[in-house]
Amino acid sequence: MDLIRPDHSLYDVLRRPALPQYDDIRPAAIARCSSTEDVIEALSYARSTDLSLTPRGGGHCFAGRSSTTGLMLDLSPLSTISVEPTGLATIGAGARLSSVYRGLHEYGLTIPAGCGPTVGIAGLTLGGGLGLLGRRYGLTCDRLVAATVVLADGNVVTCDAEREDDLFWALRGAGGGQFGVVTSLVFAAVPSPAATRFKLTWPRIHAAEVIAVWQSWAPDAPDDLTASLTVNADQVQVFGATLTAFDPGPLAALAPEIDLRADLTWPALKASLSEGEPDNRIIHSKSEFFRSPLPSDAVAQLLNAGCELNFTPMGGAYNRIPVDATAFAHRRERFLLEHAGPDRNAVRRSWSIAHAYASGAVYPNFPDPDLTDWPTAYHGPNYPRLRDLKVKYDPGNVFSFPQSLGGSR
Ligand SMILES: Cc1cc2nc3c(=O)[nH]c(=O)nc-3n(C[C@H](O)[C@H](O)[C@H](O)COP(=O)(O)OP(=O)(O)OC[C@H]3O[C@@H](n4cnc5c(N)ncnc54)[C@H](O)[C@@H]3O)c2cc1C
Repeated sequence: MDLIRPDHSLYDVLRRPALPQYDDIRPAAIARCSSTEDVIEALSYARSTDLSLTPRGGGHCFAGRSSTTGLMLDLSPLSTISVEPTGLATIGAGARLSSVYRGLHEYGLTIPAGCGPTVGIAGLTLGGGLGLLGRRYGLTCDRLVAATVVLADGNVVTCDAEREDDLFWALRGAGGGQFGVVTSLVFAAVPSPAATRFKLTWPRIHAAEVIAVWQSWAPDAPDDLTASLTVNADQVQVFGATLTAFDPGPLAALAPEIDLRADLTWPALKASLSEGEPDNRIIHSKSEFFRSPLPSDAVAQLLNAGCELNFTPMGGAYNRIPVDATAFAHRRERFLLEHAGPDRNAVRRSWSIAHAYASGAVYPNFPDPDLTDWPTAYHGPNYPRLRDLKVKYDPGNVFSFPQSLGGSR
C-alpha cells in the first residue's frame, strides 16, 4: 500500500472526485491499493490511527460519499480485466467503464453497464447499474456472479450464489461502501454487439409533445431498443442504441432531426454518446422512479422549473427479476426521471413538481441527501434484510455515511 499524504505530489490529483462540489473535502491521507493485501493493510492502518475509512472507485457519487476527511482508499490501481473461455470476466474494483468496454471487447464480450466513461465499475455495480443493454440483459449487478470483499475485521471472503450467499445478495443493489471493500467482481459477460446509435433532436419548444409520446412508447419498446430522453435549455433529444434496425416508432410523426450511426462496435457506440460532454462541472441531482406517465400539466410546470430533465426507460429485463431476488428493489418501474443542474434550488423545485406522481422509489446510485424516508425510497421491502446483514457483516459500523444501513457514525 502506498500512503499518500497531503505533501505528496500525487495527493491533489488523487483526492479530487468527479463532481467539483466535493473538491474541498480533503482526506487526512490516501491509501493507494494495488491488491487485496493492500486493502487489508489500509484497514489495519485506519484502525491503528483511528481514522474513518472510505473506499473510492471512480469517484462519481452524487452525494460525495467517496470523499472523506479520514483515510480514502484509492482503488484505481486495481483495474485488471481477465476473461475465461466460459465468458466469465473478472474485473478489478478500480476499473472505469471505458476500459471495461474496451478490455472485454477484445474477447468479443461486454456487460450491461452505464455510459459515463470514467464511472467506476464497483460503485456502479453495487448500486445496480443502468445502461443501454439493461432492457435486454438487466442491471450490471444482475450479471454479477461473484465478488471478493475485504470485511471490516480484515477477513477476505469470496461470495457467490453458494458461498456467503446473503452477502452476495446484498452487494447486488444496496449501494457502495456498506459491507466491506470489494476488490474484484466476476461477471457473466454477454456478446459485445454491433449496434446503431441514434439521436433524434427537436427545438425545446417541442419538449412537451416529445415527452408525452416518449412516456407511452420507450418503456414498452422491444428489449433491444433503449431510448433515453433529455431536455436542456436549448433542445429536446431522444438518444440511445438499438441492436436491430432503428425504428423511431410514434416519434417519427413529430419530425425530428435524425442522426444515425449504424454498425458501431459497442465501445465506439458508448464513446460516441459521451463525445463533447463537458467534464468536471457541478451537478446537483435528484431523481425518482415512475410507474405511470406524468400528466401534461405537470410536464408543463417541469419545463419551467429551470433544470435539465433526464428520462431513462426501465421495463424489459430490469423488471423480469423478482423484487427480493437481489438487494435492488425497483423491479416494477416504467422510467426514472432525473432533475440535474448547477442550481440546487431549481433541481429541488423541479423534483417537487414531479414527486406527486412518482412511485417514491429512488435509485441507490443517485443518492439524495434531502430524502427523509430513505430506507423505503432506496431499498423498499428489502430494507429489513439489509439492516440484519449490515449487523452481521459490519457490526462495528466501520463503513458508514449519512443514509448508510448502519447510520452515520
Ligand atoms: C457523470 C455521471 C454519469 C453517470 N452515468 C451513470 C449511468 O450511465 N448509469 C448508472 O447506473 N449510473 C450512472 N451514474 C451514477 C453512478 O452509478 C454512481 O455515481 C456510482 O456510485 C459511481 O461509482 P464510482 O465508483 O464512480 O463512484 P465512487 O464515488 O468512487 O463510489 C460510489 C460509492 O461506492 C463506494 N465504493 C466505491 N468503490 C467501492 C468498492 N470497491 N467497495 C466498496 N464500496 C465502494 C464508495 O465508497 C461510495 O459510497 C453516473 C454518475 C455520474 C456523475
